[in-house]
Amino acid sequence: MTDTDPLRYSILASGSTGNVTYLETRHHRILIDAGLSGKRIENLMKKIDRSLKDVDAIFVTHEHSDHTHGVGVLARRYGMDVYANEGTWAAMASKVGKIPLEQKHIIAPNTVKDLGDMDIESFAVSHDAAQPQFYQVHHNNKTFCVLTDTGYVSDRIEGTIRDADAYLMECNHDTEMLRMGPYSWPLKQRILGDEGHLSNEEGADALMGVIGRRTKEIFLGHRSQHNNMRSLAHLTVASMMEQHDFGVNHDFELRDAEPETPSKLMTL
Ligand SMILES: [Zn+2]
Ligand SMILES: [Zn+2]
Repeated sequence: MTDTDPLRYSILASGSTGNVTYLETRHHRILIDAGLSGKRIENLMKKIDRSLKDVDAIFVTHEHSDHTHGVGVLARRYGMDVYANEGTWAAMASKVGKIPLEQKHIIAPNTVKDLGDMDIESFAVSHDAAQPQFYQVHHNNKTFCVLTDTGYVSDRIEGTIRDADAYLMECNHDTEMLRMGPYSWPLKQRILGDEGHLSNEEGADALMGVIGRRTKEIFLGHRSQHNNMRSLAHLTVASMMEQHDFGVNHDFELRDAEPETPSKLMTL
């Protein structure tokens, strides 16, 4: 069944500079966040041989610009439906500009939106935004989960996102690089805090708490430009998981999401 009717996804962009994930089933094509300009998202879609004209909807996680930069433009240019919870709608109103009322939809935290052959499940996270939530997408027994922009991963979140087929998991910063780096003390405190971002170690811990027998692909993402490096994030997570007897690149593939190079179109 999965061969003829798969769930496909590409992480178009992931990082402090902008976040966009694309998903498709036979009948639906969506974005989770649109945190780059419309033009740049269009170019990223071309690289995976897809067009924004075919995208039905954007699911927004929270109002920060690295998640909403292109939302208004795409909604107006392509008539996409936009889903967010009430807090996020209120907080992003001035950023996204006018969106026709019939394209504005509410998806409350910890609910499921049934689009037909795609179910989008929201779950609340802990982040310094009005009402942040992330999503996992279900289709034919397959699940893809995005979790970035959270200060910690609660038991409730772990329970919700356990044993997905694929994850995009935050590994925002290396704690030492952040401490020693150029950011102001208040900003460092914000990032390290319970409403900030997951470090490489915290991302690894979260993964070890949730992955299961079904999990085949893990992308590490939302990497900070200033406080992290691809190789450092990757090695930190891989070695922590290996120490705990996880079959890295054996039971599942450990991959790196990039700020502006889309992953290939992955099939679940
Ligand atoms: Zn972000
Ligand atoms: Zn954020």
